Amino acid sequence: MKKQVLPKVEQGPRPSLSFTEKRFGKAPQHLADLDRAERRAVVEDFGYREFRADQLSKHYFEHLTTDPSDMTDLPANQRDGLCEKMFPQLITKVRDQIADQGKTIKTLWRLFDGAIVESVLMKYSDRATLCISSQAGCGMACPFCATGQAGLQRNLSTAEIVEQLRMNMVSAHSGVFGEPVRISNIVFMGMGEPLANYKSVIGALHRMIEPSPQGFGISARNITVSTVGMVPAIDRLADEGFPVTLAVSLHAPDDSLRDDLIPINSRFKVQELLDAARRYFLKTGRRVSIEYALIKDMNDHAWRAELLAHELNSRGKGWVHVNPIPLNPTPGSIWTAASKAAEKKFVDTLLAAGIATTVRDTRGSDIDGACGQLAAEVVDRDHVAKRAAKAQQAVEARIAEHRQAPNNLQEILSEPSLCEEEEES
Ligand code: SF4
Repeated sequence: MKKQVLPKVEQGPRPSLSFTEKRFGKAPQHLADLDRAERRAVVEDFGYREFRADQLSKHYFEHLTTDPSDMTDLPANQRDGLCEKMFPQLITKVRDQIADQGKTIKTLWRLFDGAIVESVLMKYSDRATLCISSQAGCGMACPFCATGQAGLQRNLSTAEIVEQLRMNMVSAHSGVFGEPVRISNIVFMGMGEPLANYKSVIGALHRMIEPSPQGFGISARNITVSTVGMVPAIDRLADEGFPVTLAVSLHAPDDSLRDDLIPINSRFKVQELLDAARRYFLKTGRRVSIEYALIKDMNDHAWRAELLAHELNSRGKGWVHVNPIPLNPTPGSIWTAASKAAEKKFVDTLLAAGIATTVRDTRGSDIDGACGQLAAEVVDRDHVAKRAAKAQQAVEARIAEHRQAPNNLQEILSEPSLCEEEEES
């Protein structure tokens, strides 16, 4: 087993980010890595007629199969060869864990080189949503997140991301929830920072959104890509022309705290991040989600809700939706969720300021399937727990003074908002 790239919590005052993957191996090329022209060219290179690529694509994206015995429209003497070349096995199910009275299923997948990732399938009354992983591990080192404590193993290929969706679609269709269910929504909120694996994620979005036989034909509006704040990549995503929802994991409205909670904030500050989020809204017309894990006596103060509302309103009205989420403590965590009273106060403050706000549920928290908990069991649990406790203690030692509102809070809050300026002009 090769060594993982770990954030250097022990070696410095702040954890360092890790963008360099320690490659276990490159996933073999798969049909889902390619667009239509590339598929046709590859199939022809293998010595088959290029239109066979369209037939294979139809089986894959419409019938969700890679089994040659299902492909009776292909010549019998070509089926095995074509499938072997175009559908190498990339992911294998290790096990399912079920929670929420059978409505949440977390699946552990082993990749071709032994790396492990997870996906979480959630059934709601009106839809099924799949939470998908884009990296094995994560290099962003957020101290409240189990995945971050495990470090980055490697980026997933486009097809490794897409295969998580196809295999879950097969399960959902075959009645894993007691009746056939169609997966209509996808959130990139599993393991990894999606925008740190930009090329593969964009490829996966193409396969998810394009109509069959190019892709699964899922509405871009039902897909959410999350980020902790890769500002240049947010602008690139806005230019791709997909109206996917952007979810910004903000967790603090001030740099003094966010520098510690989200280490990427040392590169891209809150103001730059919210400006990029606003540009994303203006370019795509999609309301941006702000994710905010409420941590007890850390970021749950009413004054922080006021500051957050001010920062959002100062960039316009109606462009953003805040999702406070009670923290799911990870193994070893010394932090816990905000009290119900603090949560209510936080939400009420945002609502009173005219910010659309909905507390998100913590589906799957009892199977470590909730946000920030994926991979808690994939790597050595004790090791992750020790790292989490150490990282959090380091933050605790630094942030005591940031629990109090800054002296100039009233001055900041009284700055005119963009809307007020627009109304006056
Ligand atoms: S919160 Fe997201 S970005 Fe941060 S370490 Fe965890 S998976 Fe990575």
